[in-house]
Amino acid sequence: MKNNLSKNPANISQTKINWNDVQSRMKISFGNDVYESWLKKLNFVEEFKNYILLSVSTRFIRDWITSRYLDQILKIISEFNKNITRIELKIHEINDDNTEELNNSSNKKENISFIKDSFLQYNRIDQNKTFDNFVIGQSNKLAFEASKKVTQSLAHYNPLYVYGGVGMGKTHLLNAIGLDLKKNNKIMFISAERFMYQFVKSIKSNEMVKFKDYFRNTDVLIIDDIQFMNGKESMQEEFFHTFNALIEKGSQVIVSADRAPNKLSRIQERIKSRFSGGLVIDIQKPDFDLRFKIVQNKIQELTLLNLNGIKISEEVKNFISSEIKTSIREIVGAINRIVSFSRIYNKEPSLSEVKVILKDLLNLSENNVTIDLIQSLVCKFFKISKNEMLSSRRSRYLVRPRQTAIYLTKILTSKSLPEIGREFSNRDHTTIIHSVKTIEKLKKNDLELSANIDTLKNKILYNKNNEI
Ligand code: ADP
Ligand code: MG
Repeated sequence: MKNNLSKNPANISQTKINWNDVQSRMKISFGNDVYESWLKKLNFVEEFKNYILLSVSTRFIRDWITSRYLDQILKIISEFNKNITRIELKIHEINDDNTEELNNSSNKKENISFIKDSFLQYNRIDQNKTFDNFVIGQSNKLAFEASKKVTQSLAHYNPLYVYGGVGMGKTHLLNAIGLDLKKNNKIMFISAERFMYQFVKSIKSNEMVKFKDYFRNTDVLIIDDIQFMNGKESMQEEFFHTFNALIEKGSQVIVSADRAPNKLSRIQERIKSRFSGGLVIDIQKPDFDLRFKIVQNKIQELTLLNLNGIKISEEVKNFISSEIKTSIREIVGAINRIVSFSRIYNKEPSLSEVKVILKDLLNLSENNVTIDLIQSLVCKFFKISKNEMLSSRRSRYLVRPRQTAIYLTKILTSKSLPEIGREFSNRDHTTIIHSVKTIEKLKKNDLELSANIDTLKNKILYNKNNEI
C-alpha cells in the first residue's frame, strides 16, 4: 500500500471526498472546542474503495479520537461517500516545523469551501471573543489600547493596521472591535480571502454593483488576514477604490496581517502606502507572564462551565506556560485538551499525562536531547553495548541499532551531519546521510521498525531521567 503522506493540501482535491467539506461538517456537528482540540489534527491520507485512511501525529490523539468520536466521524464521511464503511487511522510523526503553515493553508481552503453563499452573510462575528476576555500583556498592550481607542472615537486612527504571527490574537481583537461597534454602526467583518471570493463570485453573477454598494455603505470595514489578498489586479483595484471611498467619508477601516505593510508581497504599492498612512501596530510573541495569565484565565473560563470543578495543578500550568511559547492559539488548544481529559477521567492530570496529551504541541528543539542519551537508550533497547554500537563492526544486529540511533539523532537534535558523524566514532557525514535515508525508507514498510522508532522517540523525549 502506498501512502501518500504528503502535507500538500492540493492532494485533497484529487480525491472523491473533499476533506475540507468533511472538516466543516465535523466542526458543526462536534462544536468548535472539540474540533479545534482534536479533530483538526486529523489529516486526510487516501481514500480507498470502502475505507478511508487518515493520520494523526500521536498515538494518544489516535486513541482519544477512536474511543470518542470515530463512529460519528464515520457517519459524516459516509454522507459524502456511502461506500465508505470504515476509517483507518495511522500515526505519523510531525518532526519539522511546517505544522503552522500546514494548518494555515488547510484553513485557507476550508474557509473558502465553508462559505455558504448568501450575499449578505459576510459578518461572522464571534460573541465569545470580546475585549473583556482578551488578556493583556507587554506584547499586545498597544494593539489592545489602539483597538479600544478605535471603538471610542471612530476614524481617530484610520486605518488601524494590526500585525503579528499566527495565533497571536489578531482576529480576536478585530472581532472585539466589531462586536463593540456593531451596536451603533453598520459594520463589515470579512477575511481577505472571503473578500476575494465574493469579488470573483460577484463578477461571475453580474452582481458587481451590489458588491460595491455593499462595501461602500458600511461604517466600519474590518478585513482580517490581508496578506492573503495578493495578486488579482482587478480586485486590488476595486479594493483600493473602496478603501479610499471609505476613508474619505469618515468610515473606519481596520486591517490585520501577518506582517508589516511594506513586507506584503504581491500587493500594490499604493495600497501598502495607504496602510502605512494610519496607525500600524504589531503584536509580539507572548512572554511567560502573559502565557501564564492566559492559561489561568482559560482554565477559569472552562471551569465555570463545569459543575464538577476542574483541577489543574500549578505544576501543569507552569509547564504549559513555559513549554508552549510560540502561539496563544496553541496555548488555548492545550488547555482545551487538558480540561477535557480532566473532565472525562474526573481527575487532575499529572505532568507525565500532560506530556503525552500535548506531545505534538511540544517543541522538540526545545528539549534537551543529547546524543549520549539517544545512544544509551537505543543500546539498552536493542540490548547491545555502547562499545558495540560505536565500533566499526558491521554485523546486522549492530548495524540497524546504529542506524536507528543516527536517525534519531538527526531528527531529535539540531546537530549537523558532521557533528553527528564525530559522535559516532568519527564516521563520515556520507555514512550519516546513508543511515538516515536507510531508516527513513525502511520505516515506511517495516511496521516493527517503525513501532520501535516511535517507542524510542517517546523514551528519549519524555522519560529522560528515569531510564538510564
Ligand atoms: P490570530 O488571528 O493572530 O492568528 P487569534 O485571534 O485567532 O489569532 O487567536 C488564537 C486564539 O487565542 C483564539 O482562541 C483567541 O481567542 C486566543 N487569544 C489570542 N490572544 C488572546 C489574548 N490576549 N487573550 C485571550 N485569548 C487570546
Ligand atoms: Mg486570525
